[in-house]
Amino acid sequence: MAAYEYETHDYDVVVVGAGGAGLRATLGMAEQGLRTACVTKVFPTRSHTVAAQGGIAASLGNMGPDSWQWHMYDTVKGSDWLGDTDAMEYLAREAPKAVYELEHYGVPFSRTEAGKIYQRPFGGHTTEFGEGPPVQRTCAAADRTGHAILHTLYGQSLKNNAEFYIEYFAIDLIMSDDGACTGVVCWKLDDGTIHVFNAKTVVLATGGYGRAYFSATSAHTCTGDGGGMVARAGLPLQDMEFVQFHPTGIFGAGCLITEGARGEGGYLTNSEGERFMERYAPNYKDLAPRDYVSRCMTMEIREGRGVGADGDHIHLNLSHLPPEALKLRLPGISESARIFAGVDVNKEPIPVLPTVHYNMGGIPTNYWGEVLNPTKKDPTAIVPGLMAVGEAGCASVHGANRLGSNSLIDLVVFGRAAAIRAGKVVDPDTAVPATNTAQVDKALDRFDTLRNAKGAVPTAELRLEMQKTMQADAAVFRTSKTLAEGVDKMQAVAAKMDDIQVTDRSLVWNSDLMETLELTNLMPNALATINGAEARKESRGAHAHEDFSTRDDKKWRVHTISHVDGAKVDLSYRPIVTEPLTTEAEGGISLKTIAPKERTF
Ligand SMILES: Cc1cc2nc3c(=O)[nH]c(=O)nc-3n(C[C@H](O)[C@H](O)[C@H](O)COP(=O)(O)OP(=O)(O)OC[C@H]3O[C@@H](n4cnc5c(N)ncnc54)[C@H](O)[C@@H]3O)c2cc1C
Repeated sequence: MAAYEYETHDYDVVVVGAGGAGLRATLGMAEQGLRTACVTKVFPTRSHTVAAQGGIAASLGNMGPDSWQWHMYDTVKGSDWLGDTDAMEYLAREAPKAVYELEHYGVPFSRTEAGKIYQRPFGGHTTEFGEGPPVQRTCAAADRTGHAILHTLYGQSLKNNAEFYIEYFAIDLIMSDDGACTGVVCWKLDDGTIHVFNAKTVVLATGGYGRAYFSATSAHTCTGDGGGMVARAGLPLQDMEFVQFHPTGIFGAGCLITEGARGEGGYLTNSEGERFMERYAPNYKDLAPRDYVSRCMTMEIREGRGVGADGDHIHLNLSHLPPEALKLRLPGISESARIFAGVDVNKEPIPVLPTVHYNMGGIPTNYWGEVLNPTKKDPTAIVPGLMAVGEAGCASVHGANRLGSNSLIDLVVFGRAAAIRAGKVVDPDTAVPATNTAQVDKALDRFDTLRNAKGAVPTAELRLEMQKTMQADAAVFRTSKTLAEGVDKMQAVAAKMDDIQVTDRSLVWNSDLMETLELTNLMPNALATINGAEARKESRGAHAHEDFSTRDDKKWRVHTISHVDGAKVDLSYRPIVTEPLTTEAEGGISLKTIAPKERTF
């Protein structure tokens, strides 16, 4: 057995992750006087949330009439009727409160002439239950909204005495013998020491797993570590086949050009200079939801109307917008276009291509952020002591497709909800669970095995093979053939984990070992994604299956539950929540309004 000494730390709550979700949860826990630690592998303000540009959705109605019921309807429709209705109601209803809280904490939102929070249009956000014109619902701090939120929440967390463990890498969860989570084992990257955190509640806020793909807008640190830890604890992942491709990643570089660019009046053209979205979506045009726009762009390229020497991408035009507007509302993307595409947005179009952007699936939770371990008998059974929020979680508010600006609001609404729940279930006066040493040893054995791995396949090589397989076979368009091949290929790729090669054996700033640990986390996420996609014989939201091109509500309006063990994936299904939290009589939305119908734009 591996001999590692470790230091133990006892807390009421340990939050793993310091992105928008982790920080909002941390702040909420600390505000209530719970002893709270936040563990993060990168400096808090370097979390991927910092890159969020466009904004955060809430029906403030600052730029025209709006209501949480309309926001909820758009979210239900956006999800292609796969989201959980209670969670979607909670999101839309609590959104204005959560945004005003951010304002009061100090987020420097852009302002209207009247001094109110500025809101811009975003894809899929409408009025009158989809019948009315688009609404300006997305609150923005220029095109650096995530940056503003992250810095504010970090400052507030410090003010409330949350304790930060920065550049600590969480290796594995500690589970008790009766299935509760009691802590997490971490590796301190800069001095190589091991730390065991015992806690009454662990909150996973580890973000998405975009890096399972070759081209992604997400940071290199988005490696699905929470999902990996959960899978190793024998717990399931949910709806992993739903991966969002953002229509406008910069061609070649993958960096994001926010949907806010189209919100401010930008539009897409093909090689004939045609504004083709008008043909596919006469009403929503360039602001149709992301899954739809990505598919239309792919169709244009496949039919020979792509731009560039190889006809393999599309143009995003902004040059008709006044230079002052670009400078005021989209300064960051003007800079990105210059640096990464060599384009002056005042004069030329930006070359763009659909790029992996967001993971709708994740660790299943209820709308309080409590992690679920669904069984046939009890599809909403919770795992005591374990929560998940943000992109790592799946509440599920985004279902099969997330609307733009609905993630930042998801982070703060559910980060806050988790804190409210913890305030009720965590008793600061009880003892912190003792260290389950057998579980710690197991985690450290795995760590040690990887550290000393002497196989033939270097981590970077295997990671690239996984990324290329996912990019080729679990992409925007999916067929039975590509998916079946993808499943086989991913099995073979995952099997090579046993032959992994790590060359650096040290413990201090060993990026080779850290990337290997991350690869062990990406792998179960990728396996669940491609297996779930292969099994789902319909098209819904981001899952567009060429051989089953329509949605099948009778058979497939269910959540996919996947247990991943090594290279083996076990799939089952659980019902979605169809009941809202409040009835129509109580001011809620009517069941008839949100009944499934065809999604047209
Ligand atoms: C370029 C870009 C632009 C976007 N723009 C928008 C937008 O305008 N509006 C919108 O609504 N959404 C947007 N999104 C989506 C949204 O920003 C993300 O979904 C969201 O920020 C994820 O936040 P998070 O808190 O869940 O995770 P992240 O911000 O990714 O943070 C994850 C945290 O977990 C920590 N962590 C991970 N693994 C470990 C580990 N093993 N040990 C310790 N710590 C760990 C990391 O250190 C980090 O602190 C955008 C996404 C991208 C990529």
